[in-house]
Amino acid sequence: MQLTFSLAAASEPDETEAGRLLFAGQVEFVKGVVAMAGLPPATRVEVCFAGRSNVGKSSLINAVTGRKGLARASNTPGRTQEINYFAVAERLYLVDLPGYGYANAPLAIVERWQKLLKSYLAGRQTLRRAFVLIDARHGAKAVDEEIMTLLDRAAVTFQCVMTKVDKVSAAELETTLAITRTALARHPAAYPEIVLTSADKGDGIEMLRAIIAHID
Ligand code: GDP
Repeated sequence: MQLTFSLAAASEPDETEAGRLLFAGQVEFVKGVVAMAGLPPATRVEVCFAGRSNVGKSSLINAVTGRKGLARASNTPGRTQEINYFAVAERLYLVDLPGYGYANAPLAIVERWQKLLKSYLAGRQTLRRAFVLIDARHGAKAVDEEIMTLLDRAAVTFQCVMTKVDKVSAAELETTLAITRTALARHPAAYPEIVLTSADKGDGIEMLRAIIAHID
C-alpha cells in the first residue's frame, strides 16, 4: 500500500481535553543524560523530539508544555549532547534529543552523539514514538533521513512534525510537504500522518498535546 502521509485531522473534543489536562499538570526537568547508564529507570512510557539544530525544537517543547524556558536552545554544539528528560504528570517522559546537523560540529562530537542516539533509540523499551521535526521552509533533508533510518532500524514509529508553518505561504508549504512526503515514503517506521505546527502562532499545539496524551 502506498502511504499518502495526510495532515493529521483535528482531534476530537475529548482528545483535546485529555491533551490539555496532561500538560496542565506538572512538567518537570528530570535530568540531562550523556550516557545510557544515566537514563532514568524505564518506569514510564516516553516520547522523544528530534530535529536539526534551529528547527524550532525548544520552542515547540516549550509551547506544548506551556512552559517558557523549559527547553533551552543551545547553539553551541559541545553543549547540546545531552538527552534531556522531562516528567509530565505522573505517567510520561518527554525526551528532548540533542539537535543534529550542525554545519561546523567537530567529527568527534558528531560521532559521540550518534553513538548515544543509536543506543538510546535501539535500547529504550519504553520509547513509544519519536517526533521528527522538519522546518516547513525546507522540508526533509538528507540529515533528517539519517535519523529516520536509525528509527526504521530500531523499529520506533516516528511522526513528522513540520515547524514554523507561519513562515511559509500555502504554496511554499505544498512544495516542502511534497519533498517531505517523498522522504517519508522511504521509511517504514514513518507514521502516516504529518502534524503542522507553529510555536509562535500556536498552530498544531493542541493537536500535538492530544496525540501525546493518546500514546500509552
Ligand atoms: P532549536 O535549536 O531547534 O531548539 O530551535 P529554537 O526553538 O531555538 O528556534 C530556532 C529559531 O526559530 C528561534 O529564533 C525561534 O524564535 C525561531 N522559531 C521557532 N519556532 C518558530 C515558529 O513557530 N515560528 C517562527 N516564526 N519562528 C520560530
